[in-house]
Amino acid sequence: MPEHDPGRSREALKALIRTVPDFPSKGIQFRDITTLIADANGLSATIDRLAAMASDLRVDKIAGIEARGFIFGTAVALRLGVGFVPIRKAGKLPVDCLEESYALEYGEARVELDPSIIDSGQHVLVVDDLLATGGTALAASRLLRRAGATVNDALFVVDLPELGGAASLKAEGIASHSMIAFDGH
Ligand code: AMP
Repeated sequence: MPEHDPGRSREALKALIRTVPDFPSKGIQFRDITTLIADANGLSATIDRLAAMASDLRVDKIAGIEARGFIFGTAVALRLGVGFVPIRKAGKLPVDCLEESYALEYGEARVELDPSIIDSGQHVLVVDDLLATGGTALAASRLLRRAGATVNDALFVVDLPELGGAASLKAEGIASHSMIAFDGH
């Protein structure tokens, strides 16, 4: 398929994602979006699809999770004409911030938010590249809710359904929306 062919199918976009076995640890199939965003049509078709999915939702702001959520979240925010909220890794923000720790598919992490950039009751859509166990998106959603946001939805390029992230988000009142899914871990 030519690089600038419009309207690439989900299957064609899925084929642009590189799978790296045993990274960052044995047994993990790392779904690497580097190869998707390096492809001009792959990038624009992905943003088209994510923006179309988001346009069905009430969105006052988009929150992207560092770092890959920044790539997709910012682009979708531009398409929707809304502001962007960075959910940062620990220790990056220069102001007082809220913190949440959580377990990853591999390891532990902490995310932080500057609560002053959220207006009470704003509907915030959480965006990240990939939904695995849901721990990262839930930590981001908890931060946003503590800052006064309404968080009803989260949007991903990739879902790994076998890891149960969608169910974990649903249990906390958050609907997940994903462009494509991969079997396995
Ligand atoms: P989780 O918190 O388990 O839903 O993990 C989601 C976060 O970890 C996302 O920010 C992903 O970028 C990253 N991640 C987890 N598992 C994978 C995987 N198999 N391939 C690529 N990224 C992953």
